[in-house]
Amino acid sequence: MKTAGTIFIGKIPLQLPIPLPRQQVNSSHYANLLELLKELTTPFFNQIVTHWPDYPIPIRLVEATNGPIDLAACLTEAAEIWNQNEPTPWFEVDSSASWGIRLVHFQDREIHPPLAAQITRLDSIGRPLRVHLLAGTNYNSLLARPYVVRGFVHELGHALFLWGHSTDRIHCLWGLAPPLVSEPSEDERKAARLWHGLPDGLDLSQYDNLPGELSSP
Ligand SMILES: [Zn+2]
Repeated sequence: MKTAGTIFIGKIPLQLPIPLPRQQVNSSHYANLLELLKELTTPFFNQIVTHWPDYPIPIRLVEATNGPIDLAACLTEAAEIWNQNEPTPWFEVDSSASWGIRLVHFQDREIHPPLAAQITRLDSIGRPLRVHLLAGTNYNSLLARPYVVRGFVHELGHALFLWGHSTDRIHCLWGLAPPLVSEPSEDERKAARLWHGLPDGLDLSQYDNLPGELSSP
């Protein structure tokens, strides 16, 4: 076992390999927070902790309207929902940033699915540097506005590298249909905080799902 020394997450010193205490989740679909986090980060990331270069993550907006629907305003609202009650905000609108999240609007066509997240640029060791949030003309009536905000809350979950989907419809990252909830659940907020609080490169597949256990390599 490696003993690479002490690192600090917040004010808590941790020895590597880091013990990960199992935290409860509200969802009945997952045994604990680690199991949920592993499911959400298996696609693309293979459960290997990956960070953005810095936080808050900049969001570059463009003017993007479909009739009465202002997609940029809806995305800003979704970012504020994720930022609520966080000690430091996840996202900030910064249209001068050269990395981070970009709103991309196809003004002449519908897209399927109606909103999507796409990793479009990687750094030299394969970590995402840019995520595009794609929108077409699908949502174009005021009645649709809450669903647009809700959809962007889901896509911003992906932009936090929770690239997979949950099987539980109480989660904004529920994957079987458009989200039923308007904001991230406490489970998802905890999953995002845990992921971005762990050291870059930590392989969660080393951990099994039994309480307090680190599986053999
Ligand atoms: Zn999704």
